[in-house]
Amino acid sequence: MKAPDYTELTPPRQAFSPLPDPAPRPSRVTLQTPVRSFKGIGESRARCLERLGVRTIGDALLLPPRRYEDRRELLPIGRLRLGEFQTVAGRVKAVGTGRTRRGIPYCEAMLEDGTGTLLARWYRQPYLARTFRRGLRVILAGRVSPYPPREMMNPEHEILDTGDPAETGYHTGRIVPIYPLTAGLGQRFLRRWLADLTRELAGEIPDPLPPSVRDRQQLLPLPQAIRNLHLPEEPGHAAAGRRRLAFDEFFLFSLAILRQRAARSKAAGIAFEAPTGLVERARARLPFALTAAQERALAAIWNDMRLPTPMQRLLQGEVGSGKTIVALLAALTAVANGYQAAIMAPTEILAAQHAERARTVAEPLGIPVVHLAGGMAAPSRREALTRLGGTSACLAVGTHALLQADVHFGRLGFVVVDEQHRFGVLQRADLQRKAGHSDLLADVLVMTATPIPRSLALVLYGDLDLTVIDQLPPGRQPVTTIWIDDAERTRIETELRVRLGRGERAYVVCPVVEESAAELKAAVQTAEAYRRGPLGGFGVGLVHGRLRGAEKAETIAAFREGRIRLLVATTVVEVGVDVPEATVIVIEHADRLGLAQLHQLRGRVGRADQAAMCFVVADRTEITEEARARLETLVRERDGFALAEADLRLRGPGEFFGTRQSGLEGFSLGDLTADLRILEGARAEALATLEQAPALDGAWEPVRMAMEARWVSRLGLAQVG
Ligand code: ADP
Ligand code: MG
Repeated sequence: MKAPDYTELTPPRQAFSPLPDPAPRPSRVTLQTPVRSFKGIGESRARCLERLGVRTIGDALLLPPRRYEDRRELLPIGRLRLGEFQTVAGRVKAVGTGRTRRGIPYCEAMLEDGTGTLLARWYRQPYLARTFRRGLRVILAGRVSPYPPREMMNPEHEILDTGDPAETGYHTGRIVPIYPLTAGLGQRFLRRWLADLTRELAGEIPDPLPPSVRDRQQLLPLPQAIRNLHLPEEPGHAAAGRRRLAFDEFFLFSLAILRQRAARSKAAGIAFEAPTGLVERARARLPFALTAAQERALAAIWNDMRLPTPMQRLLQGEVGSGKTIVALLAALTAVANGYQAAIMAPTEILAAQHAERARTVAEPLGIPVVHLAGGMAAPSRREALTRLGGTSACLAVGTHALLQADVHFGRLGFVVVDEQHRFGVLQRADLQRKAGHSDLLADVLVMTATPIPRSLALVLYGDLDLTVIDQLPPGRQPVTTIWIDDAERTRIETELRVRLGRGERAYVVCPVVEESAAELKAAVQTAEAYRRGPLGGFGVGLVHGRLRGAEKAETIAAFREGRIRLLVATTVVEVGVDVPEATVIVIEHADRLGLAQLHQLRGRVGRADQAAMCFVVADRTEITEEARARLETLVRERDGFALAEADLRLRGPGEFFGTRQSGLEGFSLGDLTADLRILEGARAEALATLEQAPALDGAWEPVRMAMEARWVSRLGLAQVG
C-alpha cells in the first residue's frame, strides 16, 4: 500500500503533545508485517497473540485495551489512603523471601520515603528479590490494604534507578492501559511491547481517511489515534483515539455493504405491473381493513416491485402488527404477473401456518398454493417439485429448504424470507441470485418479527431498504405480564380455569435449549400433569421439535379449533403461531430465555380484542442478577423496540441473537451498544463518499484498499465495481 501524501495534517481537536521521534528502524516494517519474526516475538508468543486476533503489526496497533488505570499521581507513603488503588514511590529499605503456611513462595520488600513505610508482597514471584536491591528507588501501583499497617499485595512495579530512562514509564507514573490477556502472555510484556511498537511505528502508518472527512467528523489523524489508544497522556485521549478507530471500522463496513447495494441497484430485476384486479379481489375478501401502517408498507413494496431493479426490502414491525398479510399481498402481485412467488418460514410449523393462510386468500381466486413440507411422502413431494419446476404461476410455501439444491423453480420472481435473524448480508445476496429468473434478479422481501435496535439494524440490514409497520391492528389490548415464583403457581391455575372455561386458549412453554432428552422429558411431564389435573377436561396437547411434522400439524390444528384448549410446547411456538383465541401464555424457566425471545413468546397472545396475560415463572432466589434484570425489564416494558435496546445493553451484541452473526464479530473497537452516533456518522459519510466517488478511486484508493482488506474477505461480500 502506498502512503497517501498528506503533508498538511489538520491539527487535532484533542490536545496531544507529540512523543519524541521514533528511533530509525533498520529494516522496513509495514502494517502487514507478521508479528512473528518481530523482535521479542517467537513462535509461542505469536501463537498467544493470534488468540487475541493479532497476526500482523497492524492488528497489534489496533488491539484495544480493556480499560485504563490512572497511575500518574505519585503519592508519598504517608498520604496513601487505605483500601484504595494508588501509585506510590519510595526507596527499598529491606528485601526478603519466604513461604506462606501453605508453602506458597513470595518476595517481600519494605519501602520508605521519609513520610512512612509500606510493605509490599508478591506471591509466587520469589525471584523478584533479585530485582529489588536495597536502596533502589521504585514505583508501585496497587490496592492498599483496608486496615493498617499499610500493605500492597502483588502491586505492579517499576524500578527508577536503572540508569536507563527507557526502562521506566510503562507500568506506573502514567495512564496505564490494561490489555485483554490470554494464557502465556503477561500484562507487562504486552503493555511494554505495544508501547514500544506504538512509539516506533504509529507515525509511519498511512491514514486512509481524507482530511475533509476527519474534519467533518472531528476525528484524530490515525497515527495520533493509535498513540492515544496505547499511550494516553490525559484521560480524554484514550476515548478520542478509540472514537476515531471505531469510526474507521463502521465507515469501512458501511462502504462495503452500501457498495454492494449500489451494485444491485444497477442490476436487472423484474418490473412487475401494478397490482391487478386479482390482488384487489384478494384484499376485498380479507375479514379486516389494513391499518394505515400496513397500507404504507404495501405501497412502498409495490413501488419497488414496479422498478426494473431487484428489490431488497426489510419489513420490520412489532409482533402481531400484521406483516404476514402485507407480504402475502405482495407475493400475490408477483403471481398475478405470471411469476412464481416463494414464502420461506424459519420452521415447519410456521410454514404450515403460512400455507394455510395463503390458501384461504389465494385459492378462491384460482391461484394454486404449493406447500413443500419437511416430512412429505415421496410421491406428493415429487408432484410439488414438478409443479415448481414448471413455468406456471403459483405461490410456494416452505422452510428455507425451499432453496435447497434439488428444488428448481421455473419462473421464480419474488421471495419472502421470514428470517428471524438467521440470514447474514452474504446469504441474502446469494438468495437473490439463486432465485432469479433468466438473468433477472428476484425481488426479496425480508420480514423480521423481532424489533432490532437501530445500531444493529444498520449493521445487519444496512444493505436493505427499510419499511416499518409501527401500528397494531385496532382493538388490541396490552398483555399484562406477571412474574410468578414457584410458590405462587396457584394463581396461574386459577386464571387458566376461568379462561379455558370461557373457551379461550392457553400456551404453557417449557423452554428447551437443545431439544435434549432430559429437557424434553420435563415438557412431557408437564403435559401429563396438566392432563391428569383439574384442567385436563379442557384438552391438553403437546408439541416439541422431535414430533413428526404431521403430528405437530394435527395438534396445532386441534388447538386452533378448540378441541385442545391448553397447549404445552417447547419454544417452537415462539416463531409466530397465530391463534387469536389464545389469551394466556405461561413461560416456565423464563430465566433461561433472552428478552427478544420472551417478547416473541408474549406476542403469541393478545392477538385479538380480549385482554391477555403472560406469566413468567422463575424463582427469584435462584436466578442470576442478569436474569432478574431481564425479567424485570420484560414486566415493565411492553414496547418491542425499547426491549430490544435494553436487551442489547444487558447482553452485548455478540449474545444478542443467541447465535453469532456474520458482521457482528467484525467490530473490535466499535461498540454497537454505545456508539450509535459514531455509526450513524460513519454511514452518512459512506453514503456521501459513494455519491462522490462510486468507484472509490483517486484519493479514495487507500480507503478502498482498507475496506477490501478488512471486510470483503471477512463478510464474504462479493467484490463489486
Ligand atoms: P406479525 O407477523 O406481524 O406478527 P401477523 O401477520 O401474524 O403479525 O398478524 C397478527 C394477527 O393480526 C393475525 O391474526 C392477522 O390475521 C391479524 N391482522 C393482521 N392485520 C390486521 C388488521 N389490519 N386488522 C385486524 N387484524 C389484523
Ligand atoms: Mg408473523
